Amino acid sequence: MDFCNKCGSVLVMKEDKGKQILVCRKCGNKKQHFKHMAIIEKQQKKPLDDVVVVDRSEETLPTTKAPCPKCSHTEAAWWVRQMRSADEPPTVFYRCTRCRHSWREYG
Ligand SMILES: [Zn+2]
Ligand SMILES: [Zn+2]
Repeated sequence: MDFCNKCGSVLVMKEDKGKQILVCRKCGNKKQHFKHMAIIEKQQKKPLDDVVVVDRSEETLPTTKAPCPKCSHTEAAWWVRQMRSADEPPTVFYRCTRCRHSWREYG
């Protein structure tokens, strides 16, 4: 929720010439709705990967010979992660260095 910087009243969202703006109901003060745009930008930057979200250190991951199930490329970056309880074996993740498809291997 946003508030008017002039009178402190709650701003309501309105459409003005195709743009979404915030308008104060009390004094009519207008404010562009930047928050909405920022959220969309954030969502687009999200990785499309549905298997696992890779750490930012992705570029420094070691690579190994592993066949990609998607493009048959034979080199993939890999990393290990403990998924559930400590007594279960950690899961090995792979990410193809060519098509960036990622998959996991148990045990
Ligand atoms: Zn106001
Ligand atoms: Zn691939």
